[in-house]
Amino acid sequence: MFAELILPVPLHRTFTYLLPHGMEEKIRVGMRVSVPFGRNHTYTGIVVGLTPKAPEGIEVKEVVELLDESPILRHPQYALWQWIADYYMCPIGDVMKAALPSELKPESGKKGTIREDFRPKMKPFVRIILRDDLAGVFDQLKRSARQQSLFMALLDRSRALQTKDPEPVAQDELLKASGCTTQQLRELVQKGLCEVFQKEVSRLDTGQYSTERLEPPHELTTMQQVAYRQVCESFSTHQVTLLHGVTSSGKTEIYIHLMQEVIGQRRQVLMMVPEIALTTQLCHRLRRVFGRRMIVYHSKLSDAERVEIWQRMLSDEGDIDIILGVRSSVFLPFRQIGLVIVDEEHEPSYKQQDPSPRYHGRDVAVMLAVRHGAKVLLGSATPSLESWYLAGQSKYGLVTLTERHAGVSMPSIKLLSMTDARRDGCVQGPFSSQLLSALRHTFSEGKQAILFQNRRGFSPVVECVSCGWSPRCPRCDVSLTYHRRLRQLSCHYCGYQMPWPAQCPICHNPKLELNGYGTERIEDLLRDALPLARPVRMDTDTTSSRHSYERILADFEQRKSNVLIGTQMVSKGLDFSEVQTVGVLNADSLMNFPDFRAHERAFQLMEQVAGRAGRRSGQEGEVLIQCSNPRMPLLHQVVHHDYVAMAETQLADRQKYGFPPFTRLIFINIKGRYEDRLAALAQQYAALLRQSFGDRVLGPEPPGIGRVRNLYIQQIALKMEREASTQLTRQYLSSIHQTMLNSNPDMQRVVFYYDVDPV
Ligand code: ADP
Ligand code: ZN
Ligand code: ZN
Repeated sequence: MFAELILPVPLHRTFTYLLPHGMEEKIRVGMRVSVPFGRNHTYTGIVVGLTPKAPEGIEVKEVVELLDESPILRHPQYALWQWIADYYMCPIGDVMKAALPSELKPESGKKGTIREDFRPKMKPFVRIILRDDLAGVFDQLKRSARQQSLFMALLDRSRALQTKDPEPVAQDELLKASGCTTQQLRELVQKGLCEVFQKEVSRLDTGQYSTERLEPPHELTTMQQVAYRQVCESFSTHQVTLLHGVTSSGKTEIYIHLMQEVIGQRRQVLMMVPEIALTTQLCHRLRRVFGRRMIVYHSKLSDAERVEIWQRMLSDEGDIDIILGVRSSVFLPFRQIGLVIVDEEHEPSYKQQDPSPRYHGRDVAVMLAVRHGAKVLLGSATPSLESWYLAGQSKYGLVTLTERHAGVSMPSIKLLSMTDARRDGCVQGPFSSQLLSALRHTFSEGKQAILFQNRRGFSPVVECVSCGWSPRCPRCDVSLTYHRRLRQLSCHYCGYQMPWPAQCPICHNPKLELNGYGTERIEDLLRDALPLARPVRMDTDTTSSRHSYERILADFEQRKSNVLIGTQMVSKGLDFSEVQTVGVLNADSLMNFPDFRAHERAFQLMEQVAGRAGRRSGQEGEVLIQCSNPRMPLLHQVVHHDYVAMAETQLADRQKYGFPPFTRLIFINIKGRYEDRLAALAQQYAALLRQSFGDRVLGPEPPGIGRVRNLYIQQIALKMEREASTQLTRQYLSSIHQTMLNSNPDMQRVVFYYDVDPV
């Protein structure tokens, strides 16, 4: 017998090894083995195939050791990995790295089974030792009021009087509840009234939801019921259905009902959200209904928590029915999925940019569902044009919800011309007087607001007032952003930092000027302008630690703050009841960047952030958009919440210029240390591509930021017809790549990668 393995090496292939005598009976696909590699390395790999057929023409080495007693992968995980590696043209080892928690990851030289690797988390618990004569016990304790109350708390918490089998109580909870110390507990132990022991506990934070406290889902409104039935009907004819429902129409309520239906059939549900902040809010909503049957999976979990989730999902007890997660949750070892929901499916954060695999979570989720025979529901108030187009072609089903839940009206949107405001002297820093007075009104009524500014830091540009010098990153082609709380200038591309310069290094003028506004500065200026404002800020700077999202959102929810200021993070699916006013500070910055998706994205951001306003209060929400030219057609589509008009205009443009969804884009990125040699190499590459692909090839050209971390970048774009065979395209590309490797030695010195369906 021979085993086919994935090894953690950056090669586009698997490896075959011979099984030693006696291993055939025990080994199965999905287990890990250690094998010799190269001259004297030992690697761990995952078995992805077993065959009696010897590979031809090569000498095979023998597997050294089998490391697992049961597979750590479930069918069809590997098939999905293979699809990702093929479609996104990356090494299968990269996919494996992205898919496995690092404790389970095969590595060179590392050994051990999951059971050995994974240390369970232990906690002290207290078990009551109940005697028949309780009166005697209290008599024994009568001299110490503390010990008495400790014993009472233990009686109560372990339900010792209600059941024959009292439950152990976590020591820390018991001490907290009774206000006692470990010393007092020790005295109880000495009196033989209880014992302390170590018990394995879950790292997953689901403790507070016991099965008794679950609530049924909300009843659907008539409109939602209609949509629910349409979704079910659509499932019978379509693999994928798009639910286009305006913000706050109750899409999430519909998801909850669908989930109930699916888990009732003993199948699992994967619900994907684009951002960890959304898992926080949704988690509470879903836990109320599903309790511990749901788990949350995101990038801020510890590795031990991830391993615990894997183990629970691999075990056959099957107690996990619902997985709420970000894009990487597509890699979990699902038992059998019945439904995949991709919420806010238009969000670009579903696409992984770096490192490889550069996959799109939504698109991989569709492939995952296909392999499980499951259905997919894509939900959004502002669908991606890709999904909208496919729905228009009837490749996807389409269900629409046009009204907000409970007759709440759509927020009214007003455009504020900053050009006019400036002319009339009605501007205070980044705020127009109109916006300030709307906010003042909102705060004075005890309501809340959200301000959206798509730049973090204090000020994006610092400039010498006399010579115009401005500090730039020495490693990247960008200017440095000033962060006031850090007192540093920092590069948002590579993290380079430097202190605020005492003077201009060119003309020695000490006066440097701050240009432009980031969220940090907006926060300060708002405090100055409106004494009633109690701002909280949400951007990558304030959400680096694991619980910071939860804290910020909780503060806002509990109205400790009355205005949430943030980058695009605040636009996504958040549901707060008291937000009355939403301000978009600089709409121009959203629309004016050189990308064919700029207008689609700007519409989505504005419509989504607007959708946070007036979600429940009897009062209509108000949205104020500051811009320099209110006559832009796109802004009018936003004002009228006219997604369809936006989609039609944009799709017409895309068709005219041959952009997705009418074509498939592949970027070929090449990065190198020497600008000229890189440019020459990219030219040669593009010329070779043109021989096969003709004018489907565009470039090479440096992207918007032409150098990052001291590496110059050249990009070649390939625009393929939708109907073109992706397999054939891949074959051509890899043979061209081989030719380049053989003909230009510089290829060894550059970083090269494909970005398929780039976002
Ligand atoms: P969406 O996901 O479309 O933005 P949500 O499902 O978040 O909308 O609904 C918006 C708000 O209205 C939520 O707070 C939700 O709990 C409430 N809601 C929606 N539908 C119902 C319903 N049928 N019964 C009770 N509350 C509902
Ligand atoms: Zn100067
Ligand atoms: Zn930099």
